[in-house]
Amino acid sequence: MAKKKITAAVCDTPGEGDVLHLRNVVIDDPHEMEVRVKLITTGICRSDIHYLRGVWVHPKPVILGHEACGIIESVGPGVPKSRIGEKVVLTFTPSCGHCKFCVAGRSVLCEEVARAAAAGTMWDNTTRFFAEDGSPIHHLSLVSSFCEYTVVPHNGAIRVEDETSPEQACLLGCGAMAGIGAALNTAQVRPGDSVAVFGCGGVGLSVVQGAKLCNALPLVAVDVRAEKEAEARQFGATHFVNASLVDPVQAVREITNGGADFTFEATGQTEIAEQCYKATCRAGTTVLIGQPTENAMAGFPPYWIAQDENRVIGSSYGSTRPMIDFPKALRLVKHGLLDLESLVSEVWPFSRINEAIALVETGRVNRMVLRFDGAA
Ligand SMILES: [Zn+2]
Ligand SMILES: [Zn+2]
Repeated sequence: MAKKKITAAVCDTPGEGDVLHLRNVVIDDPHEMEVRVKLITTGICRSDIHYLRGVWVHPKPVILGHEACGIIESVGPGVPKSRIGEKVVLTFTPSCGHCKFCVAGRSVLCEEVARAAAAGTMWDNTTRFFAEDGSPIHHLSLVSSFCEYTVVPHNGAIRVEDETSPEQACLLGCGAMAGIGAALNTAQVRPGDSVAVFGCGGVGLSVVQGAKLCNALPLVAVDVRAEKEAEARQFGATHFVNASLVDPVQAVREITNGGADFTFEATGQTEIAEQCYKATCRAGTTVLIGQPTENAMAGFPPYWIAQDENRVIGSSYGSTRPMIDFPKALRLVKHGLLDLESLVSEVWPFSRINEAIALVETGRVNRMVLRFDGAA
């Protein structure tokens, strides 16, 4: 083991119009209970772009990227050498194992993860990435995948089968699980429950797939883009509402006979969160997934929420428990019950990252995946 010189896409000055700068960075050896991973693929998530644009604040410079698949190249003290060579999917919710949320099996809420993520460091408040002048470069949420190699906590690298498609598996690191998990884990939709999903981007379409796995019926997809209908139906929607043509609240209430048992907000727009609530039936549940800016507020009527015994709940990363849910999702893929392949719009070489980000920003693609070996 030794420090390595790698190529990374570094975010220096977040703001409108900024791009990532591809340059040499030094990566340290993995420290205690950490692994170093040679990345094969990374997805691009809206959150990465929020950091790049300065919509969300992060210590900088930083190496963004948090949807990734790779191979463990080396291990730090305390991690069995037998892990070297494992194919892994990375997660930003590795579980510290001792905060009250991790103990309760809710590692998405881990207090130690939140602390390290805010600092842009590993658990020990230091970084494994350095500029050539020796100054530290920050991590993103204990993952950082816009680079050839990364260092992560050992339990943030979840083993997957060797034959797993790295282009598909990387999506479990964020977008796909955020949607699938919202239906399976957070909402726990039951067969025959009516569901309406507002927003048919990568996350919304994953909610549709999750709800299909739960045998939701009817399963309504809502979007302002007519071209999303075919995809939504392919992933299991029984109905499609074009919200640019009709009032989506009224349409969903009609299709579901008075409101859906579960509605999911997957756009990150506050007015759509309000629409979701209005399209939910009495005693139904409105699940908020999308992420507007931190201080955004939406309006809900307390009287009616009480009177109708409604629930308005949040779903962070689909309440995913990576060690349980990644292998489960990949089993479903293997048996044709889950389609990650169709979520991958295009696979490009890592060198085209800025072009890929620009394409994601147009909203025309579901998920862009980058490969580090240049093959695509
Ligand atoms: Zn993400
Ligand atoms: Zn914890």
